[in-house]
Amino acid sequence: MYAIAGGGGSAGCGSARTFFRDCRLNFPPIRSNRADRKHQPETAVQIACLDLEGVLVPEIWINVARRTGIDSLLATTREVPDYDVLMTQRLRILDEHGLKIGDIEEVIDGLGPLDGAVEFLDWLKSEFQVVILSDTFYEFARPLMRQLGWPTLFCHRLGIAPDGRVEAYRLRLPDQKREAVKRFHELNFQVVAAGDSYNDTTMLAEADRGILFCPPQNVIDEFPQFPVANDYAALREEFLRARSELS
Ligand SMILES: [Mg+2]
Repeated sequence: MYAIAGGGGSAGCGSARTFFRDCRLNFPPIRSNRADRKHQPETAVQIACLDLEGVLVPEIWINVARRTGIDSLLATTREVPDYDVLMTQRLRILDEHGLKIGDIEEVIDGLGPLDGAVEFLDWLKSEFQVVILSDTFYEFARPLMRQLGWPTLFCHRLGIAPDGRVEAYRLRLPDQKREAVKRFHELNFQVVAAGDSYNDTTMLAEADRGILFCPPQNVIDEFPQFPVANDYAALREEFLRARSELS
């Protein structure tokens, strides 16, 4: 998918309640974790699929908003379910304020993993095959991946103009987190997934076990089928619980 900044999408939040309600209407339907999935236990290996922002590293766009003082960049997938609407809005705002890729890189260079994230990820890698499924962009992620020990990352690409303007974003494919879990199942892996936002919920539903990590209350309320972990110790317990239930 290829989307051009400023094309289509919402003209802004207006009434936040109406905006978020309309976005929610466009969000793909959520299926519950399927009990009838056929695995072959003797060959199944468990993959842990982790969201990135809000789980291992801070929200990049929130930090860009704070650094630049542009409040309209504060919206994230925690509030806006439709990622196309959110990204179209973000790129339009960057253009309006003349912000270029270098300005965002400057913010990212000052970010590091969340407290305890490196230790948690090291532990998870010792117990599961780990893949990070993120809706961020490779152009943003490199400094953070270095600090996390270069884990496997599936995410998207940006289109950068020669002058540094962020002119487009290129999604790997729609709903790539869920699609990745489907492909892992086809390869006969079991999947335990964790994320914090709307854009994780289809991944959590597709996985054999889904876990919410430090989610906002609106996500907890809308997706009560997923257990909630509010710190890394609890997330560790949920992964171990999922493993024991799947074995
Ligand atoms: Mg997230």
